[in-house]
Amino acid sequence: MSREDIIQQLEFLRDIGVTTLNLKEPTAPMAKPTPAPSPVPSAADTLPLIREDIGDCQRCKLAPTRTNIVFGSGNINAELVFVGEAPGSDEDEQGLPFVGRAGQLLTKIIDTSVDPGRITRADVYICNILKCRPPNNRNPEPDEVASCNPFLKRQLATIRPKVVCCLGTFAAQNVLQSQLTISKLRGRFFDIDGMRVIATFHPAYLLRSPEKKREVWEDMKLIGAELQRLRS
Ligand code: URA
Repeated sequence: MSREDIIQQLEFLRDIGVTTLNLKEPTAPMAKPTPAPSPVPSAADTLPLIREDIGDCQRCKLAPTRTNIVFGSGNINAELVFVGEAPGSDEDEQGLPFVGRAGQLLTKIIDTSVDPGRITRADVYICNILKCRPPNNRNPEPDEVASCNPFLKRQLATIRPKVVCCLGTFAAQNVLQSQLTISKLRGRFFDIDGMRVIATFHPAYLLRSPEKKREVWEDMKLIGAELQRLRS
């Protein structure tokens, strides 16, 4: 492997959130390359491998109270990925993201407003910042986000969507690394790791404040137009 290849590989690992490397001295000349230790974040990463690395995760204090890990679901080759906050009780029960009331609204929003007739929920990928439900739907805490974030980064680096849409303040602030409110962050694109990232109101918020649906519709139209532009 050339020096440039090694630098590229290290930069890739850094970009997907790997902060430590297990570097062992070879004990004898090696006939064959030894397989990398697990977890294996590399250009050959896959969603099943990431899920396998999560395993029966005990990395943070949410483990004892969750029912299921909610990894994410949808089209693994999606051009568009939605990132929410954390599983709620329906998601925790079923092990799938956005399957409760907010999820039903999200499905309707995707099917009817991004690129109607061309993009439905089955075409996109949906996941969350946290893979486990915080008790009583409390806000995620920094140590929980720190434990889970490398897996989201690997998911995005594997799917390589054209556009990522953050749902709600929490997802937007974490993905965009900003303290601005969702009202300030929504409605425009940011460039993060080669992806176009936009934020909009969370569907659970829309259930309480339906007057915000118009802004979400406008954000979905921006996404539809951006996908169109990036395809041409
Ligand atoms: N809210 C979220 O942010 N994510 C889900 O999966 C469900 C509700």
